[in-house]
Amino acid sequence: RQLAERCGVSRTTAINAYRRLEELGLVRTRVGSGTYVAEGSGEAAVLPMPWHQLLVPAWQSPVSGIIRDLVAMDAAAGVSMATGMPDPGLYPWAAFQGLLGQGSLAMKDLGHIATEGYGPLREALAARHTAAGVPAKAENVAVVAGAQQGLYLLAKVFLNPGDYVIVEAPTYMGALQIFQSAGARLLTLPAPGPLQLDLLEDYLIRYRPKLLYVLPTYQNPTGRVMTQPERQALLTLAARHRLAVIEDDPYSDLFYDREPPPPLKALDQHGGVIYLRTFSKTVFPGLRVGWVVAPEAVIHRLALEKQYVDLHSNNLAQWLLYKFVASGGLDRHLTAVRREYRQRRDAMAQALRRFAGGRLSYAVPDGGFYFWCRLTAPGLTTRALLTEAGRQGVSFVPGDAFYPGTEGEREFRVCFATNGAAELQEGVKRLTRAAAQAEKG
Ligand code: PMP
Repeated sequence: RQLAERCGVSRTTAINAYRRLEELGLVRTRVGSGTYVAEGSGEAAVLPMPWHQLLVPAWQSPVSGIIRDLVAMDAAAGVSMATGMPDPGLYPWAAFQGLLGQGSLAMKDLGHIATEGYGPLREALAARHTAAGVPAKAENVAVVAGAQQGLYLLAKVFLNPGDYVIVEAPTYMGALQIFQSAGARLLTLPAPGPLQLDLLEDYLIRYRPKLLYVLPTYQNPTGRVMTQPERQALLTLAARHRLAVIEDDPYSDLFYDREPPPPLKALDQHGGVIYLRTFSKTVFPGLRVGWVVAPEAVIHRLALEKQYVDLHSNNLAQWLLYKFVASGGLDRHLTAVRREYRQRRDAMAQALRRFAGGRLSYAVPDGGFYFWCRLTAPGLTTRALLTEAGRQGVSFVPGDAFYPGTEGEREFRVCFATNGAAELQEGVKRLTRAAAQAEKG
């Protein structure tokens, strides 16, 4: 009481302070005698680190939790159809082993290289794009540690808190997290159905957004392909308003019925398109190699920012990919995986028709990895379905993960790339059983 009075604080505060000191082992209380400084608690006392006070608060989206749960759930599920992974059984590992065995890797290539990436790979990628109608020099290419890092760096170099960014809804959840954590305000364009040019123009006039982020080809999650006239109209509008467009394109090489229309970048007259690519879906994600094709001014700024993060991406992966591309291995691999994934897409479509009946509505995608499904039973949500699906041993991504707002509660995404036809059929059976259970109650 004396101490509390002398310090001008309440008695409870003083008692709490003593309790805390005791918890920390800094004082000992002897009943009937008093409180004493504990032995050895002087200068040598080790206080626990106050990490929570030192760390800058993390930006937490409702989606962060979903992704963590999914990874855990996907690992546990008998048939995992949640994560957008190629099938490990299709990784071109034998070809990579052959390349490693050739011994033509110069030791100097294993030291530090330019932040923009391994020269021969940048040259090879630029040549490939030029041949496909996207004129590019090596100086227009920066290799990044996956498209995810590309997006992160682009957000870093373009966005100030409060800037507006137009995204599709639904869209890739990783991009939503990046833009939101950069403090951007998101404006949404509906992804399925025709491109809403009036809405886009309205946004451009009212909000003067910094960026438009789009997936024109086999959109994640809807599988939608923007038609060529839509692409042209989008670019005309973007040029008029001098809007920078990030075209994220991990899936255009994975077409199953016909080749998709040319990328926005090939149709871009105003030079405003930043083209983001990755080997994660076509080769394998552990390589962590993606690349950005953009005007030199953007590449230069991006490289400055990347230098702070990791100096440059992994040389060995870049060297292997250069060899893989230059030897024709990538093209052979793409032909093989397209054939396999087409069969899986068809198997999934057949299983959905056969087992899911009227429970789901969906469109069969022409390419990419995903079916985007909608529950038809009134009142049933994908969250309720997810709980039941966990019991049945099957996983998917609930739709709300792909929206910046609260939509998508009756939609979900399933990936058909990771599993073979028999597992996909089993997965759809389990999903249908889960839906029937969830409908009951
Ligand atoms: N963009 C989209 C649309 C994706 O689907 C993914 C992978 N899920 C990424 C970016 C990130 O890819 P990476 O593995 O190259 O970082």
